[in-house]
Amino acid sequence: MSKTVVIIEEISPTEVIVKCARCQGYGTLGKGWHDPECPTCKGKGRLLIEVERLPLVKCSRCQGYGTLGRGWHDPVCPSCEGAGCQALAGRWRLVT
Ligand SMILES: [Zn+2]
Ligand SMILES: [Zn+2]
Repeated sequence: MSKTVVIIEEISPTEVIVKCARCQGYGTLGKGWHDPECPTCKGKGRLLIEVERLPLVKCSRCQGYGTLGRGWHDPVCPSCEGAGCQALAGRWRLVT
């Protein structure tokens, strides 16, 4: 299994869009429209990440799940704020 995170869109060498790990791209904390909106991506299902340099790898603390468990109701990972990823080297920031 690859440790790198799939990049949906590369806006620039330092700005990329990835699927939201916390909601798995659904935009909600569950898979139904009636479920609460995902606070990490604000319902968009994708996240804009600013990195000093690529690649992005799965967050070592949550293993890329964005939460400290395997469910949406588990507490959000404090290392990646739910993004599920981290820069392999250098700084990174969750923009959206
Ligand atoms: Zn989300
Ligand atoms: Zn994490």
